[in-house]
Amino acid sequence: MSRPPVTAQTRIAGVVGHPVRHSLSPVIHNAWLDAAGIDAVYLAFAPRPEGFETLVRGLVGGVALGLNVTLPFKERAAAIADYTTPEVLRSGAANLLVFRPDGGIGADNTDGVGLIAALAGAGFQPRTGPVVVLGAGGAARGAVLSLLDAGAPEVRIVNRSLERARAIAALDPRIQVEGWEAAARALAGAAAVINATSLGMTGQPPLELMLNAAPQTAVVLDMVYRPLRTPLILAAEARGHPTADGLAMLIGQAVPSFTALFGADPPEDVDVLRLCQEALGESR
Ligand code: NDP
Repeated sequence: MSRPPVTAQTRIAGVVGHPVRHSLSPVIHNAWLDAAGIDAVYLAFAPRPEGFETLVRGLVGGVALGLNVTLPFKERAAAIADYTTPEVLRSGAANLLVFRPDGGIGADNTDGVGLIAALAGAGFQPRTGPVVVLGAGGAARGAVLSLLDAGAPEVRIVNRSLERARAIAALDPRIQVEGWEAAARALAGAAAVINATSLGMTGQPPLELMLNAAPQTAVVLDMVYRPLRTPLILAAEARGHPTADGLAMLIGQAVPSFTALFGADPPEDVDVLRLCQEALGESR
């Protein structure tokens, strides 16, 4: 199936960020729209940083169905919404705004769904044991709460800034905090290890983590997907760990976003992983 030609009936949705040119969301959603024959297009918007709210309010009530939201607007997306899910209330961040027919704006955060789906794809079962989350930024915060919701008995945050990590730990007694120098202690007995820092990303410092303190059964997920095969993923594979990459999480969050925006589940017969790998210039 392919989409009908663009007419005055065509609906729009998109992703808003600054910068946004790197986003793979248009690749994913337009492939699904094409395959489903839905009369809509998915674009990328990069307003001036101070213009986020103007852009969102200008789109409500017209042909736009809603927006995915990426850095640096996730907190402002949560603040602009009229209706929020519990995930948004707790994390203070939204990656999805849905424009309702009555003019209201609904906010959700599907990053946690994406994370749990990516981990499940690598065989992870949340109740098996403690999970180590490296980082205490926005992505880590959402990840920690989703892992606890999914049944993880304990989450150990390892972060450079202990203050930031402690602010998350204050949310739930099952969250522990360690500095990088104690990372080996945190890894002991871990059921999963998740990199939610920007370390290891192209242009950022490397992630230096000795995985040998973790059991070989620990699932290792790196949220970073530029490069796709990060040093952490390569080191984990070399030690025989099950792994999941940042694209698995990205696609995992796109699934419920698509359903909320377009009112249909994404078609299953589209190899969006391959399309994303091609867009990144990488293949497995
Ligand atoms: P933030 O900027 O909010 O947080 C960055 C984190 O990285 C903080 O914990 C910070 O530590 C740490 N960090 C950065 N530089 C250093 C350094 N030199 N040494 C030690 N720690 C460092 O970013 P986000 O939480 O929004 O995103 C984190 C990563 O997750 C990014 O790579 C992002 O692309 C990725 N991501 C991937 C998604 C996916 O679907 N695959 C979804 C969302 C995010 P400190 O607190 O001490 O500053």
